[in-house]
Amino acid sequence: MSEPPFPLEPDGAAFDAWTSACVAFVRDYLLSLPNQPASDADAAEPLRSGLREPAPESGRPMDELLARLRPAVLASFNTAGPGYLAFIPGGGVYAAALADYVALSVNRYVGVAKTAPALVEIEATVIAWLAELMGYPADARGLLTSGGSMSNLIAIITARAARLPEDFLRGILYFSEETHASVAKAARLAGFPERNLRRLPVDARYRLEPAALERAVTEDKERGATPFLIVANVGTTNTGALDPVPAIVDIARRQGLWVHADAAYGGFFRLCAEGAARTQGIDGCDSITLDPHKGLFLPYGTGCLLVRDGEALRRAHQGDAAYLRDVAPDADQVNFTDLSPELSRDFRGLRIWLPVQLHGLAAFRRQLEEKLELTRLAYAELAADARFELLDEPQLSVVAFRLRVPAGAGEGADEESDRVNAELLRRVNARGRVFLSSTVLGGRTTLRICVLSFRTHRERLLEAIATLQEEAGRLGRGTGAK
Ligand SMILES: *Cc1c(COP(=O)(O)O)cnc(C)c1O
Repeated sequence: MSEPPFPLEPDGAAFDAWTSACVAFVRDYLLSLPNQPASDADAAEPLRSGLREPAPESGRPMDELLARLRPAVLASFNTAGPGYLAFIPGGGVYAAALADYVALSVNRYVGVAKTAPALVEIEATVIAWLAELMGYPADARGLLTSGGSMSNLIAIITARAARLPEDFLRGILYFSEETHASVAKAARLAGFPERNLRRLPVDARYRLEPAALERAVTEDKERGATPFLIVANVGTTNTGALDPVPAIVDIARRQGLWVHADAAYGGFFRLCAEGAARTQGIDGCDSITLDPHKGLFLPYGTGCLLVRDGEALRRAHQGDAAYLRDVAPDADQVNFTDLSPELSRDFRGLRIWLPVQLHGLAAFRRQLEEKLELTRLAYAELAADARFELLDEPQLSVVAFRLRVPAGAGEGADEESDRVNAELLRRVNARGRVFLSSTVLGGRTTLRICVLSFRTHRERLLEAIATLQEEAGRLGRGTGAK
């Protein structure tokens, strides 16, 4: 059988063969997910050298390529599995993968509205759904990004354009010391030196203190600087802390500052009643970062930025290109390129539209309610065990805790605590059923459980707790009965 001269367009037989091979690959993967190790990244070492090779001149069979891919997939943190409780879990609902398959196959152009008006309307509708969920008015605008970091960058650039002169180096940004590192990184990328960033202290529950914020803003004004932006956390990454948004918005209004809500982790909890109650005031923020690849359980690469005053987003981004004159938008059309740094891009709106249409919002609400419930359960179980110290009651779906070191450890108690907790984490993760991560709070190693995968249910969560308790016992910490 000879190769066709232009194999980039498969014939019917090749189309069917490739597609069914990929479908079989994904089906096998998804069915085996609950029994795959929660992490197997060490297995990647021997694979890496075998994968580094020159690009082949002639094509290879699909089956052979998938066979090479399979072990590479498994040799990683199992971020899609039910045992993934580390960092902020994603998920990857299958319908979103199908949406990408369709979107990339039809390959229509959605950078400007005129080239695919109805598809751009689908994406604009998705933005309108998310804006409404946040309580934003109809003239809010937004865009889908690759993730929260990009959203934070675009938000800071938008606020800079809205509130500062072109020569902006007097502009000062404020955020708590618990804020995600992407905010300081975005500020740097947007041109602000470190001396323009104010990292403010938090209270005992890791929330920004409004009084400290107002004091810092007043002091900066007195010395001739130009405060322009506050970033409020709607769910910090470390502990899920919720900054007091209404009080922050109040200060911002009084002082003439832009408030950006980093709701990358916490925003979608608004889909359930409890989450909506805890995130009140978010509609008063000037812009909001959301990560559908976290709280909507979609695949990585799905972020969102919403801006309350849509015109501010447009003013910061709109350019002028003679070669686009034939496709200028009508007054009622959204040109995503005028709201974003990008021109060409994938039709990523379908990745949200299809899962939401296919499942309905209720399916997402139920998941988020369950995640809050499971987090309360994890907190209650660990709090009932005297061996563990809990750092805060869950504000969303994170439990932060430490295994206590016995009284009498004396001088080196902190180092001993760091060592023992790192060892506990290592042992729990090594068992391969759940995967947890650690952070530093108050200068000390702290373990966390973050419940956000749509595949994590009660059984696996209880298994995580039992594993922690067993390994604590093996570390010589008894049974912990109170
Ligand atoms: C995850 C996260 C980010 C960064 O988002 P990416 O999608 O990983 O770029 C920013 N802020 C918070 C609070 C987050 O949890």
